[in-house]
Amino acid sequence: MNHEQLKADNAQYLWHPMAHPGAMKKSTPDIIAKGEGCWIWDVDGHKMLDGVGGLWACNLGHSNKPVRDAIVAQMDELPFYNVFRGTTHVRAIELSKRLVQMMQPEDVATVMFSNGGSDAVEGALKVARQYWKLKGQADRFKFISLRQGYHGVHFGGMSVNGNTNFRRAYEPLLPGCFHIDTPWAYHNPYTDDPIRLGEICAELLEREIVFQGPDTVAAFIAEPVQGAGGVIVPPPNYWPLVRQICDKYGVLLIADEVVTGFGRSGELFGTRLWGVNADMWCLAKGISSGYIPLGATAINRRIADVFDADTTGTASVSHGYTYSAHPIAAAAALATLDQIEALDIPGNAARVGAHLQTRLRKLVDTCSFVGDVRGVGLMLGIEMVSDKAKRTPMPRTSDIPARVAKAAYKAGLMVRISGPNLILSPPLVITREEVDFMCDVLEAAFAAVQEGRA
Ligand code: PLP
Repeated sequence: MNHEQLKADNAQYLWHPMAHPGAMKKSTPDIIAKGEGCWIWDVDGHKMLDGVGGLWACNLGHSNKPVRDAIVAQMDELPFYNVFRGTTHVRAIELSKRLVQMMQPEDVATVMFSNGGSDAVEGALKVARQYWKLKGQADRFKFISLRQGYHGVHFGGMSVNGNTNFRRAYEPLLPGCFHIDTPWAYHNPYTDDPIRLGEICAELLEREIVFQGPDTVAAFIAEPVQGAGGVIVPPPNYWPLVRQICDKYGVLLIADEVVTGFGRSGELFGTRLWGVNADMWCLAKGISSGYIPLGATAINRRIADVFDADTTGTASVSHGYTYSAHPIAAAAALATLDQIEALDIPGNAARVGAHLQTRLRKLVDTCSFVGDVRGVGLMLGIEMVSDKAKRTPMPRTSDIPARVAKAAYKAGLMVRISGPNLILSPPLVITREEVDFMCDVLEAAFAAVQEGRA
């Protein structure tokens, strides 16, 4: 393989999502060629620990054999069939049953499949609106969501997204979407007391519902722990209060678990972290360890019963993709779920994640430009600041985050930079020794940048 040619071809032919096309032409992104366990190799043969987990996705690492074997076996048995109304297939049936059983504590009744996280979110938003129409409350069409939240790239998801950068170019977005402040301990104008912050931000939800008119609000959607927004962990009282408020006004609660689902937070689902039940869960990424695209919207009994009981003939959900419940993806997911149980993936994320969080939190004291280190389980964000006292996020023009990432890369660790944040989301099979390696590399990288050596 001619690496220079690959780089030139990438610049000429490949339009990267979430990136400036011009910048991608000037500077080739890292070309990844191989993965094994928690490790990846770039096209030049440089070996790195995958601190990104593909993209919060490869929870079982890069070479899980049972998942690989399930995919190959499914290729031989039935590479594709659809689940539109006239047909179904064995793996889709098995996977839906398995997920419903896994989510019994959540009272999940049924699962609608799609191709990824954005699809799963879109499905939940559509089902929420349709649910209220079926119940004769068509006025309930509005959505409330959090600033800094990320819910994918479709028009519905973008409309509830809380990041201006992902919205501006596509406005006007869906009417009826409103955003409230995130309970963000490090950046908020309210208080340094986390429990008070949880109360205040829950109150903001209640005020918004009342302001909109409770009988016009379909659902509140949020991530149990915000991922792409910079790994923002809400105070422990926030979600229980949110659930109470949603119940008070009959508003549906949608948990976007695309990142937190299947163990990353140290619990199987992020809602379990907070001891609350949602009405719908958006699932993707870890459901198939990222090996094959798959999304799922898990729907609780309260909603499913209304659709089942419909006598008007309007309960058919127009959210079917050709590849919904693709057999190969379903086979990969079934094997992934087996592995999640057999390897106690949430338990490992909790145990080694606690070690990761403890070690890296020390960077706040040792590094002059680390303002905040936050996270839970195996999701962690390191926020870089230009002024520690004022908590000013590192400006976009600063080269410091990129320098840290480059120093880590050279020393054998792939990380992800998002604005002022360095984000870690390694595979959930990572060992304590591998976590120590990640921490050693990062401590050295931050020190080298601080001292002007990198
Ligand atoms: N929701 C959340 C919370 C996500 O983090 C993401 C992607 O990172 C999505 C939705 C969109 O998922 P996808 O990129 O698979 O469409």
